Amino acid sequence: MIDEQVQNDSRKEQVPPPDAWQERSACYGLDPEVFFPTSEEEAGLALSYCAACPVRETCLEWAIQNGERYGVWGGTTEQERRRLMRRVA
Ligand code: SF4
Repeated sequence: MIDEQVQNDSRKEQVPPPDAWQERSACYGLDPEVFFPTSEEEAGLALSYCAACPVRETCLEWAIQNGERYGVWGGTTEQERRRLMRRVA
């Protein structure tokens, strides 16, 4: 029971905003358009940057906590994040 509570509390911990970690990201300084592809099929380039990104987990947590609906975040496409959020809810 306590373990469950601690686990729930840690999930509620707020992830710092991108300003705090974007300088360490693999996409820092890149054209943001790469991360907002017009289709899932065009997300490959963005996902390849995410695959090598040292802040990938933080980025994904931020996107989920803040309901980022558009673009590639933390190695996930819009559809993948929607599926993830449904599973977590
Ligand atoms: S995980 Fe992807 S979108 Fe997030 S900071 Fe890293 S490269 Fe950028």
